[in-house]
Amino acid sequence: MKQLSLKKFIRDDISKMDSYRTVPSLWELEGNFLKLNAGENPYGFSPKINKALGNFKYYNYYPDPEYKSLRQALANYAGVTMKKIMVGTGSDELLDLFLRLILDEGDKVINCPPTFGMYTALIELNKGVVVSVPRKSDFSLDIKEIKSKIDKKVKLIIICNPNNPTGSVSKDGEIVELLDTGKLVLVDEAYFEFYGKTVVSLLKKYPNLIITRTLSKWAGIAGLRLGFSISSPFFVDQLLKIKPPFNVNLAAEIAGKAALEDLDKTKLILKKTIKERERVYTQLKEIPYLKIYPSYANLLYMEVNQNFDQLKDYLAKNKIIVRLSENAIRLTIGTPEQNSKVIQIFKEFKYEKIKKYAFLDRDGTLIFEPQDTFQIDSIKKLKLLDGVIKGLKELTEEEYELIMISNQDGLGTSSFPRADFEIPQNKMLSIFEKNGIKFKKIFICSHLPSENCDCRKPKIGLVKKFLINNKVDKSKSFVCGDRETDSLFAKNIGIKFIPMQTNGNFYTALRKGEVI
Ligand code: PMP
Repeated sequence: MKQLSLKKFIRDDISKMDSYRTVPSLWELEGNFLKLNAGENPYGFSPKINKALGNFKYYNYYPDPEYKSLRQALANYAGVTMKKIMVGTGSDELLDLFLRLILDEGDKVINCPPTFGMYTALIELNKGVVVSVPRKSDFSLDIKEIKSKIDKKVKLIIICNPNNPTGSVSKDGEIVELLDTGKLVLVDEAYFEFYGKTVVSLLKKYPNLIITRTLSKWAGIAGLRLGFSISSPFFVDQLLKIKPPFNVNLAAEIAGKAALEDLDKTKLILKKTIKERERVYTQLKEIPYLKIYPSYANLLYMEVNQNFDQLKDYLAKNKIIVRLSENAIRLTIGTPEQNSKVIQIFKEFKYEKIKKYAFLDRDGTLIFEPQDTFQIDSIKKLKLLDGVIKGLKELTEEEYELIMISNQDGLGTSSFPRADFEIPQNKMLSIFEKNGIKFKKIFICSHLPSENCDCRKPKIGLVKKFLINNKVDKSKSFVCGDRETDSLFAKNIGIKFIPMQTNGNFYTALRKGEVI
């Protein structure tokens, strides 16, 4: 049978989606990693949960599809009646179920980024249209803008409070203002326990309010997946129609109930986490390359105002896993020991300045090259080419670091003794020095082509270590030379090439290449 394309069987929008990116599980990583990327509870879960899971004897049966006793326990915890509670495999599932319940194709949902990325993914998956109303620069909500976007097609406004990833919270009265629009408002309170303020009391007056919560963060059972929602009983009845019958597994139910019976212990951990959050915040606030924001969750959000890649590499090298976005880090608050390590790593980190480098060929580019096989082996033969001093001076003024790189075939052999090379070479360097020109590095390959070394241009063996140990600004660095080997050398490094006519004018070549 002809190779069957399976793509045509799936939804076009899903086939175009990016693949899901995952972080390996902590227990599958070798070495002592700190996993501080997902808001998980670093203290583990309570022994009571362990005991309850071990003692339960009925895992061979399905759970109660209405989850009455679990919902009752959650209702007691949230201070509402059981009829207002629905449970899900993590609050992720509840977000999905609500969107499935609410959205017809093309219905709009207002979302306020930066925020939890699952919202847009789930809205689109459920054929809704995301209306994005970005938060203000301090990550507060732009209520005026949200209200201006409201039209007939808008079904729902999603507000994450405290917000993931920024840790910011809505101001008093803002949620009420949104509820007063008459649209459905979903407030995701995944981080409620680290904040202490909830909008649950608004439910009495506003049946258009939906709240989601989770036991993944504070209760330490992220891996078992248990979330719940608080809403008008009407929505609970509707969700019961569409949810998979046994959506929450029995282990999650048992663990969830046990966690709710162990609140005294959990409260101590919460207190510790909040105290640690303030400590980490205060310490990291001192670091000039970070802009850190106050947080009401178990997360800290910080923008990185210098070359981010270096910091990312450094954290990875030190086995610290954090959540990364384009220019920011979201850090989960860990145990005091973990946090101290993180603070120390951030404080120790030093940026290396990224530099522009000019890799310059010598013979035929900087000095006169008489003929192919003829080496410049005496002062008599030394002649700087036109525009060399002027060109090198301007490169220096433009803050280029100068690197000389030259193939000197057979240097050090009897046919080309080292002294014959060094005398004109040193003379050339002293002329440069008198003109305020200094080469940072000089790389010479002395092999013959027949030796097949890995350092003769266009190979890059000579500069390999240099490229690893120095931060090269590849967009501005260049190679200038008069041969194809120089051009290939540039290609092999991944920087641009500025051609020079053999024994031509160096300055003109640089001008043509637009580096000065
Ligand atoms: N909402 C927010 C804001 C979150 O940060 C998370 C977890 N990353 C969730 C919901 C989902 O949590 P879970 O599915 O584990 O309950």
